[in-house]
Amino acid sequence: MQKQWRLASRPEGIPDRSHFDLVEVPIPAIEPGKAVVKTLYLGVAPVMLRYMRNETDFESPIALGSVMAGRGVAQVMESDCSDLPVGAIVQARVGWQEYALIDTSQRPAPFILPADLPLSHGIGAVSLSGITALVGLREIGNVKPTDHILVSGAAGGVGSHVAEIAKALGATTVVGIAGGPEKCHRLSTAMGYDEVIDYKNQDIDQALDKTFPDGIDLYFDNVGGALLDNVLGRINRRARIVICGSISEYLIDKEKRHKFINVQNLGRQDAKMEGFFVFDYENQYPACIDTLANWVRNKTLNPVEDISEGIESMPDALADLYLGNNLGVRMVRVGDPEVAV
Ligand code: NAP
Repeated sequence: MQKQWRLASRPEGIPDRSHFDLVEVPIPAIEPGKAVVKTLYLGVAPVMLRYMRNETDFESPIALGSVMAGRGVAQVMESDCSDLPVGAIVQARVGWQEYALIDTSQRPAPFILPADLPLSHGIGAVSLSGITALVGLREIGNVKPTDHILVSGAAGGVGSHVAEIAKALGATTVVGIAGGPEKCHRLSTAMGYDEVIDYKNQDIDQALDKTFPDGIDLYFDNVGGALLDNVLGRINRRARIVICGSISEYLIDKEKRHKFINVQNLGRQDAKMEGFFVFDYENQYPACIDTLANWVRNKTLNPVEDISEGIESMPDALADLYLGNNLGVRMVRVGDPEVAV
């Protein structure tokens, strides 16, 4: 038997345990063309709230009573699929459960992780968090050594990788914004940020005036809302704004969201603001993972992970993202590998 979290109701606000049921069900049997995998780590992401509310079109609707969707690191236990050999450690869409039946029709398809790195990095640094930071900075940010760079949500899963990756791509200094003294301390001591702004304890206008007297060239935005508008009022010519996410607005009804007043500055400054979706870069994943893994090996990239134990803690892990409780990549360790690789 195995444990599995099923969606019980659709949250209005921050998701919690009451929105899920933990059930025991049989481990799935192998089927033609598929593989049975054992879950080792599960990740959480802000977008999962939107899956739970059926607000995304890239994740098929999750019916109440079905397994909660999500990706994780897993080991192939049985296989009838040559791309998923027994023993392989993969990153795949396994759902919130201890065992899953998967195949290569998922998009993004399951991918094999570097064998020499900690398994947990398959949730963050050499997986979708790291790839998101890399493609956002490289494809949209077009980082230059002279850029004055600002990152919001800097101590979160994606943000904790952005400063080090930006520097690997040529940046000189990077400023991070996060909430609270502990996060801000870790931004500068563990995540490669040169200056930090604590938006929960500092006046944001004064802090931005002081930190960016010459304006902002590159903004990697994870939070959206009023802060994005503020930054739009401070951009330089040819600035680039990378819209990675807008977590400050995911819990707010559309009509109550921030009304932007500085968007015209994009035209005045010949600047660009562009969103992107990491799933659309699937063809670049192998090369991105190689690059990220090499940066981890040579300590250019130093992942910060926030790990709790046991599949029982999944709802709390998801809530932590909205409560601001996570430092680095929030994930849950679910099990240990069983098969020698
Ligand atoms: P994350 O940053 O770890 O998210 C949790 C953090 O968000 C919290 O610790 C908190 O940090 C901050 N936060 C929560 N509520 C907030 C609010 N109301 N205002 C400001 N900050 C708030 O999550 P992540 O997985 O790394 O994702 C970061 C962003 O990237 C999200 O918006 C996500 O949707 C997006 N994303 C986009 C892609 C893509 O393909 N474009 C891929 C992955 C993720 P503080 O304590 O510092 O406030």
